[in-house]
Amino acid sequence: MLNNRSIFITGANRGIGLELVNESLNKNASVIGTFRNKSKAKELFQIKSNNFNSFQMNVTNETSILDVSDKLTKPIDFLVCNAGINNGFGNFFDEDHSQENMLEVLNVNVLGCILTVRSFRKNLNNNAKIILISSILGIQQHNGSNASIYRASKAAVNNIMVSFSEELKTENITVVSFHPGWVRTEMGGPNATLSATESAKSLINCFENLSFKDTGKFFNYDGNQINF
Ligand code: NDP
Repeated sequence: MLNNRSIFITGANRGIGLELVNESLNKNASVIGTFRNKSKAKELFQIKSNNFNSFQMNVTNETSILDVSDKLTKPIDFLVCNAGINNGFGNFFDEDHSQENMLEVLNVNVLGCILTVRSFRKNLNNNAKIILISSILGIQQHNGSNASIYRASKAAVNNIMVSFSEELKTENITVVSFHPGWVRTEMGGPNATLSATESAKSLINCFENLSFKDTGKFFNYDGNQINF
């Protein structure tokens, strides 16, 4: 249960991250949300709750991540790596997939998760849960030819999830990844099937039901396991 537990969410200023913050507060969790840019975090700053704290953090900057991890005074029960980008629409032959764009996607989506988990390891409570927000686009069976580097980045997210689950097994830390559904955010676009609130509500219910037997698995936002 999230009641009185602490949850740390990256990329919390908008989209799915912001709704994960709101849903966690509804469940009386102690919530920490990160934003990268003050000018884009107005909704986060409007949250008035003694159970909420926010920090500026860029997941591609290890110093910035370590600064925040050093400031935390309470252990984290749920660490949610949600921050992500999709710079490259089209496929590997499209202009959108410039070297610079592709590096940025891999830097934020893949290294961002690795650096965040590494830096916050010391802040994790006993039996903590680490949740990487991935995407169904990353499964090997998916044969879409759009957003190729994004798909590769999310395949890598699921792969590092498995590595972390092994590396943290002896500490009883559960490491999983989730597909949040197709969600109406800046990334998901207006035609997506779920609102950010619907996705976040369902995700939070799933997070509450996680146990150590789930470590190393990839789940849909409705709780069903996905092969990857
Ligand atoms: P949004 O584009 O709405 O929000 C992305 C969030 O990530 C923003 O808060 C953004 O901050 C933050 N972010 C981006 N780069 C960095 C960085 N370098 N450091 C810190 N924060 C950063 O996306 P969604 O809410 O839709 O997506 C959330 C997660 O869900 C992502 O990992 C995405 O890949 C995944 N996902 C989304 C789907 C969808 O349909 N929406 C489907 C499948 C997966 P800022 O405001 O500063 O840019």
